[in-house]
Amino acid sequence: MAYSSRYAVQEIPKYKLPKSSTEAKVAYQLIHDELELDGRPSMNLASFVHTWMEDEADKLVYENIAKNLSDQDEYPATMTIQGRCISIIGNLWHAEAAIGTATVGSSEAVMLGGLALKKRWQERQRKNGKDTSRPNIIMGNNAQVALEKFARYFDVEMRLIPVSEESHHILDIHKAVEACDENTIGIFCILGSTFTGHFEDVLGLSKLLDDYEAKTGLDIAIHVDAASGGFVAPFAFPDLKWDFRLKRVVSINASGHKFGLSYCGIGWVLWRSTDYLPKELVFQLDYLGSIEYTYNLNFSRPACFMISQYYNFIRLGHEGYKRVMENDLKNARLFAYALEETGSFDVVSDLHRPLNVFGWHKTGKEQVAQAKKKGAVKYNPALPVVSFKLNDEFKKKYPHVQQAAISTLLRTKGWIVPNYKLPPAEDDTEILRVVVRESLSREMIDRLVIDVREAADKLKEVENEASQMLADVTGVSTKNKHEAHEHRNVKRPKTFNSTC
Ligand SMILES: *Cc1c(COP(=O)(O)O)cnc(C)c1O
Repeated sequence: MAYSSRYAVQEIPKYKLPKSSTEAKVAYQLIHDELELDGRPSMNLASFVHTWMEDEADKLVYENIAKNLSDQDEYPATMTIQGRCISIIGNLWHAEAAIGTATVGSSEAVMLGGLALKKRWQERQRKNGKDTSRPNIIMGNNAQVALEKFARYFDVEMRLIPVSEESHHILDIHKAVEACDENTIGIFCILGSTFTGHFEDVLGLSKLLDDYEAKTGLDIAIHVDAASGGFVAPFAFPDLKWDFRLKRVVSINASGHKFGLSYCGIGWVLWRSTDYLPKELVFQLDYLGSIEYTYNLNFSRPACFMISQYYNFIRLGHEGYKRVMENDLKNARLFAYALEETGSFDVVSDLHRPLNVFGWHKTGKEQVAQAKKKGAVKYNPALPVVSFKLNDEFKKKYPHVQQAAISTLLRTKGWIVPNYKLPPAEDDTEILRVVVRESLSREMIDRLVIDVREAADKLKEVENEASQMLADVTGVSTKNKHEAHEHRNVKRPKTFNSTC
């Protein structure tokens, strides 16, 4: 039994393979217990990655857990399902003849999208007898690390456009176009920024690039990193043009394991047609008995999460996805309004403000009330993500409170809410961020609001006590040494913002 085994009192093997074997139940219990120290995935509001699926999806995952997605010939039914998923996603993104592949996640998908841009640019340069040694790619400096990895790993100069409050913390499309030249392989446009959930303006960028082409003759392509937004926009904002409806959008990636609502381990990349997937990326394998075509970075990888994606497509349909995305957005907006209501926070995200109204200097509630006078209110298209910060009034009144302490206090209640800086140029602003996934229901939002408010109140209290004590000690010590000594013995209040 687990707790009467030798490992109950001896150290568990950590650095070397143990000499002897262990009972399965014992090994299981030991590892299981240690992993209890992890945060709870459903309470991990820091992550975009999906953490819940239905029992039937779990069953399919377990049934197919031993299948390798690269064994095309051995698992023909699995391969057919991959093909169907690509058709379904292509249709969702308004492609006419899309080609694509399942990947491990958006990171692999971004590498493939970027490589295709690079190869196409090289081909163009060669045809024109031009240099192919100094490619560059353009993106906002809010880019997720996967995009920067592409540039660094594949030797492409990265032209990072600084984000600002005026650009709503995302890519400034005018500056992006100014940074283009004949060595630009393309622009990465992000549908939804991981920092604040804002959607970058793919349509606006596309139009500016049309003008740029008219002036310079240079045809600059867009790859949309829709890691999170690829499964939000088609359902919640069907009129928003960001996908293959725009001819400059040559490829798109999305994470099935984010708002695709599958478990971690599935991503997608699609090109608008075979013309945009350079032949050099496609390998023809004569392997295990038949000819196979592959264009992935990984060879072996799990098939079960791709299968769970297909389960969702069938199970939820358009209707189900739409409901989930609208619910997530509704709850996220509710959370944003509740934060503003506390009087302590500004909401940096703009998902709860009327279309084309930005900025935290007025509350979303005021802005929506104003817009309502003119008619029905549409909201800014965005991810169900709420980034927020302590407001100036709070900071002035309680100058020693560190915002990160809110994150620490929430952790004691089980919530995982990160506190981090906006990208360089705006990095004097720290934000707390909550990703509203479907498991964060209305009831949980209520609890979260209470806990955030309590955390802010606690910090106010601590600062008040501390400054009172400081005043007492300094005031008294000049008058009466005896009293000052007594004061020193007073139990110190806990400060969450000290480093010790
Ligand atoms: C999550 C994310 C990525 C990376 O995707 P993975 O699926 O985690 O590899 C890239 N870009 C954006 C915008 C993201 O949100």
